[in-house]
Amino acid sequence: MEPITAYVHFPWCLKKCPYCDFVSFAKAREEIDHRGYADAVLAELARRAEVLGQRELRSVFFGGGTPSLWEPEEIGRVLSAITAAAGRLSPDLEVTVECNPTSLDESRARALRASGVNRLSVGVQGLDVERLRFLGRLHDPDGGLGALTAALRSGMPRVSGDLIYGVALGTAEAAREQRPEHAAAEARAVASTGVSHISAYSLTIEPGTSFGELARRGRLPLAGDDGVAETFFAIDEALEAQGFTHYEISNYARPGHEARHNLGYWQGVDYLGLGCAAFGTVSRPDPRWGLRSAGAGDHGEAPGEAFAVRYRNLVSPERYMAAMVEGGQTIPVASDERLGPETRLSERIMLGLRLREGFDLEAAAAALGVPAWSAARRKAAERLERAGRLRVDGGRLSVPRAAWVFADGIAAELF
Ligand code: SF4
Repeated sequence: MEPITAYVHFPWCLKKCPYCDFVSFAKAREEIDHRGYADAVLAELARRAEVLGQRELRSVFFGGGTPSLWEPEEIGRVLSAITAAAGRLSPDLEVTVECNPTSLDESRARALRASGVNRLSVGVQGLDVERLRFLGRLHDPDGGLGALTAALRSGMPRVSGDLIYGVALGTAEAAREQRPEHAAAEARAVASTGVSHISAYSLTIEPGTSFGELARRGRLPLAGDDGVAETFFAIDEALEAQGFTHYEISNYARPGHEARHNLGYWQGVDYLGLGCAAFGTVSRPDPRWGLRSAGAGDHGEAPGEAFAVRYRNLVSPERYMAAMVEGGQTIPVASDERLGPETRLSERIMLGLRLREGFDLEAAAAALGVPAWSAARRKAAERLERAGRLRVDGGRLSVPRAAWVFADGIAAELF
């Protein structure tokens, strides 16, 4: 049975962080329609359930926004319906909830555990009061570490902590960069709580965010590329020394604790997206999911072609909830597109090269029914290999760790 994963988006946070470009809206917990939103997700699931019935479900990920704000019983209701709809459950089904330290304590973690959740991912983001304030976070360093220990004390089998590095303070003219050794010390402090997984992301400035606007006006302190690269390697060294494996550019795990849901994205596994603004990518879906640009049952594919449909659900929570509860023959979406095998192979290259072990280009191409090697791709691979930026082992490609900071550019050369 082909594997699939499920992603459920929860679109509210207590406050919008100035760097965040996820779909999230500020709302007090008591103002959220917890049950109404779960009902809408369940209504969507009922209309998309058929695809789950034919697959083995590997993981469910509640992301956001801040899903730890959602009442655990509503998360449990959605989770039960997803697992009931699956054709088969993976024996090591992973169920993750993203958490903000401001909405996670031991009793909430226990309630999530009782609802069937077996992994929590906590946005600690940093252990410096001034930097957390600059990032607009509502918690302090003790709040971040406290949430991790509360999650671990609750008996949650797997807990992950998120960190952001490459943050500069001060002014645009006199930026004070975070020292690599401080970032490494923070990573060590998070590791010492007993978590089995750590994600470390460099701060990216996204257009359309408050930071993006400040940067556009030249008013945001920014870290330099060299300092960010140095910090990347300092964290790498610190966590590898603590027994973590740097298994993906931004992710570290103790053996066996890699994030299975994210591995699914990097390995090209289909994912069903549920909830407002959620993306989904499903190979050969039910024709009723038809592209808006095509007639029902007609995706425009050649017979037997390994196409997939990528859709994005309605972005406004209110519109999404109204549309799902209303029902109807087709499922309204914000956008959808048909992905042909060449596009899918480019995505496999982009995502597969983020993994330490790389990926098998020839197996991926064979599964998609397209050739792995064009003359141009072969030439680019040879050039990158000579420059020490790519390892080619038969059909398997990987980026040596020293060149990871260039991974996106390396992948683009292989499209
Ligand atoms: S808590 Fe997370 S999702 Fe919400 S605004 Fe901040 S970074 Fe974005």
